[in-house]
Amino acid sequence: MFLKVWGCRGSLPTPGSTTVKYGGNTSCYEIRNNDNELLILDAGTGLRELGNSLMKELPLKAHMLFSHTHWDHIMGYPFCVPIFIPGNVFHLHGPTHFNSSFEDVMTKSMDYTFFPVRMQELGSTLTFEDMKEGVYEFGSFTINVKYMNHPILCLGFKINCDGKTIVYTGDTEPYYDTVYGDNEPSDEDEEIEKAELLEFVNLQNEGIVEFLRDVDLVVYDCTYTAEEYPAKKGWGHTSMEHAIDVCEKAKVKQLIMTHHEPTRTDEQLDELLKKLRAQLKNTNSKLVIDFAREKQTYTP
Ligand SMILES: [Zn+2]
Ligand SMILES: [Zn+2]
Repeated sequence: MFLKVWGCRGSLPTPGSTTVKYGGNTSCYEIRNNDNELLILDAGTGLRELGNSLMKELPLKAHMLFSHTHWDHIMGYPFCVPIFIPGNVFHLHGPTHFNSSFEDVMTKSMDYTFFPVRMQELGSTLTFEDMKEGVYEFGSFTINVKYMNHPILCLGFKINCDGKTIVYTGDTEPYYDTVYGDNEPSDEDEEIEKAELLEFVNLQNEGIVEFLRDVDLVVYDCTYTAEEYPAKKGWGHTSMEHAIDVCEKAKVKQLIMTHHEPTRTDEQLDELLKKLRAQLKNTNSKLVIDFAREKQTYTP
């Protein structure tokens, strides 16, 4: 099994001279198993080029897993050429929202006020499935789905195949006390409530560590540095240092940090990688880390 990066930029596409090395396309990853079965994770603008690369192997059958439906994770979808071609089959799976099914949300995104092509004009066979926490089997892939912490329902995927495991977190942030924050409780009742909340928060965060336990390759939302994070708390993203800490606790083998902050330049990412690797070396850690880079293939 391998994972290839087609888009690893967070929030919005960032073409330009300062993002040539790591790339400016938003979230999209290709996973293949030893039988060449295809899984696509998220449909950011990276999907356009992935779609072009798939043109040489028509007719296609693929499962597409959507972590969530924020723009940066779906906007490549109507630009994926194979989706327009009859004979190709795409099974799309993603989270539901309040009273809307995943299919409703995806159809709305192609409303004529936003986009000139209608869903009915896509020539391939498309199926839509609402995804919840649980275990799914697609071909020889077994997918364990977990809810992550983001302003909208977001799914993390643990993919088992060929004796290896890959986790993609989608967009996520560590759980924290959203009621009291750093404020002290003013009476005994509030003290009890705060303690209960913290216990719940810790449980949720431990659940993430367990989800990543002994995983071979983790692709983790690492939008911020630890220094930047406090000003962006609540925006739904994780710091590199926190992701490293979680992966260390979970004994993950390889961490690919992704969803790069849109203003982050290639030079800054190179510098950060040097610094983070040096810190890990000092602690004698065995964890291998890298920043996701467009067109790069990672093998668990
Ligand atoms: Zn995102
Ligand atoms: Zn998001």
